[in-house]
Amino acid sequence: MLSFNRGAIYSTNGHRVVFDPERKIKHGLAIISHAHSDHARKHSVTSIMTPETQAISGLDAVTVPYGKHSVEGIELEFTDAGHVLGSAQTRIDDVVYTGDFRMADSPLFKGAQPMECDDLIIETTFGRPEYVFPDPAEVGAELGEWVKKNSDAGRIVVVGGYALGKSQELTRALNDSGIVPVVHHKIHAINDIYSEHGKNLGEYVHSDSEEGREMMRDAFVVQMPQHAVREDFLHTLSVQNHRPVVACTATGWAGTFFTRGVQRTFPLSDHADYNQLMEYVEQAQPKRVHTMHGFAAEFARQLQRKGWDAMPIKGREKTLHHFL
Ligand SMILES: [Zn+2]
Repeated sequence: MLSFNRGAIYSTNGHRVVFDPERKIKHGLAIISHAHSDHARKHSVTSIMTPETQAISGLDAVTVPYGKHSVEGIELEFTDAGHVLGSAQTRIDDVVYTGDFRMADSPLFKGAQPMECDDLIIETTFGRPEYVFPDPAEVGAELGEWVKKNSDAGRIVVVGGYALGKSQELTRALNDSGIVPVVHHKIHAINDIYSEHGKNLGEYVHSDSEEGREMMRDAFVVQMPQHAVREDFLHTLSVQNHRPVVACTATGWAGTFFTRGVQRTFPLSDHADYNQLMEYVEQAQPKRVHTMHGFAAEFARQLQRKGWDAMPIKGREKTLHHFL
């Protein structure tokens, strides 16, 4: 039986499974889809995740690689969600939980394959028709070209992106354009885990190493976590190094949000865009669709217009009592 209470809960054979629990749960099993902090939380119950997600998150867990497994009394299938290293879609019986996913291939990942099911719980971060992203490899090449042009002109170039996921795609894109970036320690640690798990990112240098400090005497390219790319930081960097500084970021929200002091924002996302979300539903052919995250209500309405039984999980949570 599937139910919703600040997340999706599935009960089967006397077991209770909660997908990416938003709060601490006291009983049942937690399925952790990937290592982003809004999905991978510490729980006192058993957490199930891929070995890669465990390596990045450092959480205690029963680890299960991609494939079909019998684990803790349930039969589950994990398949690659194409979002970040170790990200998994989960199928238990006729229920599929996508977690964050991307269907487009990128230089680091194959796109997620839709999983057929009766009940589809799908993340809909970019569930509005205006969110349609270009090919990740093309965006990466365009970004690399922009960075190289600025670096060749003697400028320091700051490249911002989320430390997990985006930054590794950026390290690879920069290397593909002939640039070896200096990277922030948080990004360096995750880059190493990607490399240990067979993802070829190219070269990158720790900002707090002798080689890094040497590189930073010249016009260098540095990768920073998105939140650190602020106007005051960029200004200080320029004053201290006596060089002009330019900055770019990569996000699916390009064109929606602007950061002061950032010259370019590239539409590189590790989520499915609107068209991929639609394609997923059409291929999975579910009887019911449950949308969550981002534009969940808008995407459910789009599906309803096409005849699907679709509702945001927040809507399914409401009982009759709620309206009385
Ligand atoms: Zn994520």
